[in-house]
Order: sequence, then C-alpha cells, then structure tokens
Amino acid sequence: MRVIPVLFLLLASSAMPMVNAQGQPDIVQEHWYHSWSTLTADAHDWMVENPEIVELRSAGETVQGRDQWVVVITDESMETKTDGTPKEMVYIDGGHHGNEHLGTELAFLVAEYYIEGWIAGDEDVIEVLQNTELHIMILLNADGNDIDSRWNINQVDLNRNYDHHWTTDETASGSGPFSEPETLNNADYMNEFMVDADLYVTMHTGTWILAYPWGFTGEMPSDYELFEHIRDTIHETIDADLPVRNANAGIYPTHGTSRDYGYGVMGYPTFTFETDDEQFLLGTAEELSSRLSTELDVMRYLISNVWYWRARLQVNSLDLAIGDKMTLDVTNLGHASTSNASVQYVDSEGIELWTSDNFSVNATNSTVAVLPADNLTLVDGGVFQLYYQKRVIDASTWVNESINQTAIDISEPDDSGWLPFASPIWAILAIGLAGYKRNKHFNADY
Ligand SMILES: [Zn+2]
Repeated sequence: MRVIPVLFLLLASSAMPMVNAQGQPDIVQEHWYHSWSTLTADAHDWMVENPEIVELRSAGETVQGRDQWVVVITDESMETKTDGTPKEMVYIDGGHHGNEHLGTELAFLVAEYYIEGWIAGDEDVIEVLQNTELHIMILLNADGNDIDSRWNINQVDLNRNYDHHWTTDETASGSGPFSEPETLNNADYMNEFMVDADLYVTMHTGTWILAYPWGFTGEMPSDYELFEHIRDTIHETIDADLPVRNANAGIYPTHGTSRDYGYGVMGYPTFTFETDDEQFLLGTAEELSSRLSTELDVMRYLISNVWYWRARLQVNSLDLAIGDKMTLDVTNLGHASTSNASVQYVDSEGIELWTSDNFSVNATNSTVAVLPADNLTLVDGGVFQLYYQKRVIDASTWVNESINQTAIDISEPDDSGWLPFASPIWAILAIGLAGYKRNKHFNADY
C-alpha cells in the first residue's frame, strides 16, 4: 500500500507549472496519481482554458470540506443536438474507495481524452461532444484519498452506504443509508442533473472486470439483453478477455452500492469498472493511458453508442379502423427492451383523451400490435404519441414521443375498400423483418 507524501504533493501542486499552451502536462499526468489538490488544479485549468466545452461544478463537500468536483464536458455552443432533440447524458464517477488510485485515474483519463481530443480537432470526439453531455465526478472520496484509505474519514465504506438494499450486514456500511455526505451528494447530483442519463459507470480497482447489476442478488437484471449485447460487442470488437458479468457472480455479493442504486433507483444502465488489482508505482516507465488503454477503449465504445442503451421505438405504420381497432407496426432501434409501451391520443392542449392497452417490444426487434380502439373518439387537432419506458427495470424513465403523421392511416367504418397496406409495401416490410430476424441477438446463457 502506497502512502502519498502529502507535503511533497503540496509543493508539487504549488511550485510546478500545471499547464502549458497545449493543455495538460502529460509527463506529470501519465506517471503520478492525483491527490485532491492536484485534481482541483487540473480541473480548474481545464475549465479556464476550454470554456467552450468544460464546466466545473461542485456536487457538495466531503466530511472534511473538500469539494466533490464534477467536470461537465460538452459543446456548450449547442443546447441540443442539431435535430433539436436533447443531448445524450452520461454519468461517471471514480474514487469511492480512496486507495483505489487506478480507478480514479481512469475517470480522469476519460475526461482528459475528450478535452484533448476536442483541442486536437478529433472528429469523433467533436461529434460526441456535440451530441452528449459527459458529467464526471473524478474523485468522490477525497478525504480517504488523502490518507490512502478505502473508507471515508468516518471509517465508512461509501460503496455500501447507498439507499438500495442497505444493510448492517456489510462491513462499515455506515449508521444508515446515505449517512455520509459523499454518497448523499452523489445521489443528489444524479437526481438533480442526471435523471435522463442512459449510462452510468463507477470506477474502482480490484479484480479486472466490467460488472453490471446486480450485486445484492444473483438474479439477472431485467435488462439482461442490453448488458449481454454490450458484453458480446466488447468481446468481439475490443478485448475477448475482459470479464463482463453481473457483479454478484463476477465480484461477490454486495449491498448498498452506487451501481445497484444507479440501476435500481435511477433506472440507468450501470457498470462498475474495476481496473486490475496492481497499483501503479511512482517512477514506473509505463504510461497510465497505455496501462488503461483497454479500459479507455471500452469507455469510448460505451459513450459513443449511448443512444442505443435504451428502447428507441419508431412507428412504421399506425392504422386505425375507427370504432374497431388499431394496428401498430413498431421497430425498436435501441438495444434495450420495453414492456409497458402504449399509444396515447391527446388533444391540441396535450390533454390525454385515450390510452391503448400496453404492448412490449423486444430489444432490436419489431412488433405488430393489434390494439382494441372501439372507445377512441377522434377530435380536431388530436395527435397520437407513444408513451413507454426506456428500459425494462421499474425505475427507468418514461418518454413521450410523437408519432410521425405520415405513418398514420385512418379508415372510416363504412370504408369497405380499405386495405392496411398496398402490396408492394408488404413486400418491403417482409424483407425488413427477415433482416431483423437474421440480426437478432441470440441469448443462450441464462
Ligand atoms: Zn472499490
């Protein structure tokens, strides 16, 4: 276990030039761990030098009064995506355990990657920052980090202190759920700013693994298809050896973790990213960004594809036979299933007049739902919209999305010549459905 020479770090942070014209002094960043004071200096410099993409917020203070900095990275010139829809939201934290330095450095490296990529004009990074807000709390447990301790200054294991199946059976879980300011501040930040996030990754050091929920039970999470899709893609395209498993089996059973809270209470797809167990030594020749290159590649993949980490329903056709039924053809472009979808009919004021029965759409699949509609009465200015949950987990966010008018076909009851589709359209649909079947992900493990 390495003890950080505090006096040395204080000298380093005050006497050394922390920045240069190109951004961060990589020779320093690549070979030292951050303390709270050097992280504060670096994050401040990021904000001052790159105001067009970096904002620095404090989510609150630790027991000893250190700010829990959140680095917010996005193209500030764009309020929304170019199509006017809200930007994707990604939440990352590091340093729950103060002595797990590589996990904290991974959170720092992710922030640095996007900031330096923007400065260098990297097209992929620019596209991500135009479409995504990254919120990164690099060091949650700054007090513990300063004394190289797993716990916070109250001797609490912060990753057992969340209000999700909290129990005194876990070692040092605190006097109650959210008894510690560090965890409460993190949850408050999620609830205030990150409700719509479609990815949360919390970074640690231990067994090398990317672990998804649950920790508190061995049962698979409701959104297992999403997690297994991500696992398979990582194995096929990045690293076949990185274990990607549910935390209960892949690490060990745990209660009150931020990962389970993020999934079970906030409804995010969540991961614990544990880098390997060996800590990094001062003076080593290996650079942190090369030591953590696989982890960075996985993070880039998870962030670039965040659009897919929820259900994304697209209505191909909505055929309403007035006084009878509605036939809905809907495709899921995302990789998460949804089980509580419905069609709503609202008036011009947005007041709900009618809601269909619920239907489900599997991940990356299509569904034709025939829904009773005998009690639906159309009004002037009325519109149809979809209402559904982004994922299967109960806590996941509900979305309301309008249905493209051109997909809607309404027929009167006496319209005996009405047909739902012209035959060439059927042929095109059949080809499309065959394609979906071929591409459908096959889950045989559980
Ligand atoms: Zn940890």
